[in-house]
Amino acid sequence: MTVISHILGYPRIGDKRQTKFALEKYWKGKQDKASTLEQIQAVFNSNINEQIDADLSLITTGDFAHYDLVLTLATALGVVPKRFAGAADLDTFDRQFYFARGRDNTGKFADTAAWQMTKWFDTNYHYLVPELAADESFANLDFEQIIKQVVDTKEILAKRGVNKPIKVVLVGPVSFLYLSSSELEDKTAHLDKLIPAYSKLLGQLGELGVEYAQLDEPILSLDLDGKWQQAFERAYSTLQRIPPKLIVASYFDTLGNNINTACNLPVAGIHIDITRAKQPKQYVQQVIDQLPTHKILSVGVVDGRSVWTTDQAAVAEILAEAYGKLADRLWVGSGSSLLHLPVDLAHETVPEQLQGKLAFAKQKLGEVAICAKLATGEIAPDANAVALDLSLALDGAKVRAGQFASRYAAQQAKLNLPLFPTTTIGSFPQTVEIRKARAAWNKGDLSDADYQTAMQEEIKRSIDEQEKLGIDVFVHGEAERTDMVEYFAQYMDGFWVSANGWVQSYGTRCVRPPIVVGNISRPKAMTVAWIKYAQSLTDKPMKGMLTGPVTILNWSFAPSDTKTRDILRLQIAEAINQEVGDLQDAGIHIVQIDEPAFREGLPLKQADQAHYWNQAVNAFKHSCSIAHESTQIHTHMCYSSFHDCLEHISAMDADVITIETARSGLQLLDAFKGNGYANAIGPGVYDIHSPRTPSSENMQVVIDEAIKYVPKERLWVNPDCGLKTRNWEETVSALANMIAMTKKVREQYSN
Ligand code: GLN
Ligand code: ZN
Repeated sequence: MTVISHILGYPRIGDKRQTKFALEKYWKGKQDKASTLEQIQAVFNSNINEQIDADLSLITTGDFAHYDLVLTLATALGVVPKRFAGAADLDTFDRQFYFARGRDNTGKFADTAAWQMTKWFDTNYHYLVPELAADESFANLDFEQIIKQVVDTKEILAKRGVNKPIKVVLVGPVSFLYLSSSELEDKTAHLDKLIPAYSKLLGQLGELGVEYAQLDEPILSLDLDGKWQQAFERAYSTLQRIPPKLIVASYFDTLGNNINTACNLPVAGIHIDITRAKQPKQYVQQVIDQLPTHKILSVGVVDGRSVWTTDQAAVAEILAEAYGKLADRLWVGSGSSLLHLPVDLAHETVPEQLQGKLAFAKQKLGEVAICAKLATGEIAPDANAVALDLSLALDGAKVRAGQFASRYAAQQAKLNLPLFPTTTIGSFPQTVEIRKARAAWNKGDLSDADYQTAMQEEIKRSIDEQEKLGIDVFVHGEAERTDMVEYFAQYMDGFWVSANGWVQSYGTRCVRPPIVVGNISRPKAMTVAWIKYAQSLTDKPMKGMLTGPVTILNWSFAPSDTKTRDILRLQIAEAINQEVGDLQDAGIHIVQIDEPAFREGLPLKQADQAHYWNQAVNAFKHSCSIAHESTQIHTHMCYSSFHDCLEHISAMDADVITIETARSGLQLLDAFKGNGYANAIGPGVYDIHSPRTPSSENMQVVIDEAIKYVPKERLWVNPDCGLKTRNWEETVSALANMIAMTKKVREQYSN
């Protein structure tokens, strides 16, 4: 007997980011739709071919979203928010981009606010939040893009003379509603109209000969209340069944208190992800015990979020036992979609000590096939388990001296800043010249000395502009950094930075997370020379600019177990702390430690959250524990939901926090009031993404509101994020308005 092998999904950016480049050219009007689709089709084809080559039992398709899977489904279900009126006329391809970007590529419709983007569970992938009207009908169905994938997959199989069942991936109806925003207070009320739409889609897939539909229900890994558990029963009992057979997939964590709900859904089977389970063996047993005896259990053993090879011995033991009980009802798969991994390790020059230890998406296909054979005992496990050397001992987190009030007074005595001090978040425009210089330097065409001169020119330009604008606290502009995490990873021991390990973050935006390979430490100063140079050009206080330990860890590939992460986070914190010390010794009196990903690593289950907050806060505090009372520590956060974690942000005890408020409305300030935020705060007075120059009047609204909750002595004025994506013209005009506004409020509120 054999065990069925499959994956839950695959990256769609292409091994050389072909999809990204094709779409961006299309959006810029540099190529037509036909050639764009042709280039994307090549990536799709190779995704299917690679599954066939890896000899997986099922061929998974339907997950090839052009922007985002939730968006694809919402578009297929006919969702068109009111401000996009008329957009239903656009074809599926253009309509989804209009929703995602707020800009219609065909030029038929005016710009409007794009759909909101939110992090996909605890990953750095962003999905688009569907906006459902109270009377959403889900009637204007348009399944073309999903159907086409099935047709194309069948064609590829036929051409190669391969006969394998097809499985289509869809976001499940309950998670779809949970993740949407709706005018209805009770989102589950949409089920009555949503389920018939799903049934229609499934019916069409069935007619095409699709054997299985994988309905992704990742919310099953959250602590769901009774209402949502009932929604599952309601949804699935009315959903059209057979064909295709339905597999409900959970991932990123265990089923927790939803285990009973999941096991008893009227479907052919369920998928569980054991790669993040604390006790994977027991977890599998527990599910088998509850699962009715005719159902399929797909066990996800190949981690869709780890770049390390799978521990075959550990997996073999678990799967052999499961196989003993389930026989051919056992399926073996990736834990989650492989979307969160770089595509192909073959493009890397892997350092010797890592050889044989890494697996990207393509390599994981082979691993899934191997694991299925481990289950039946057809092959024996390879002794390949990878262990990181984490011997670098730290005796717990340290905390800096002094209370905020006395620290802030000491800092003010030294800095002598005006009321409502103005500053920016760190980066200034990453110009074409900067990118050119860096590319040449990386290629070896520009010497270290010439590169340094080029960057110093940019720093000088930043200083001149800030001088002219009359900003109070300066930044050097981060010209030398491509990415705020990668930069530091490059200078720390214990990280490996791949050359082509891109992962989709949202739409066509990709990131290249560094990979943790061992103890993390800082052999020498990473930023001091740049900041010192910047400070030498001005009498204004220069703000040293660092990335915080929580963000560096969350935006890297590192083991998922809590204990290891706690150690690594603290090792990074110590490296950053040493950098703070060096900056301070070099005469820098203000240091910003960015933590935009502070919330991202929050575990999905409430029971694990307190531990995370405690560790995250402690790591941040450790990262500036060396700071004198008179050294001012800033932090910065943006584009995340902070409302539910303000107490932990407060506990970080940074002297000043600059935080994005423009997008989340001003409710955030309100929440700070409720929580009694005691330190200083710079609410972002304008959205750095705004295409037009925001007016002083609009910016003042933020300060007028903030001052209701925060005493003026503790208020700062700044944009809501870094300016690296803007050009200089936009930057200068927006900042000029910000300075004009500040002068006004200084007068208005000075007594
Ligand atoms: N200091 C960084 C910058 O200005 C912060 C970026 C971020 O918040 N993501 O670019
Ligand atoms: Zn930011």
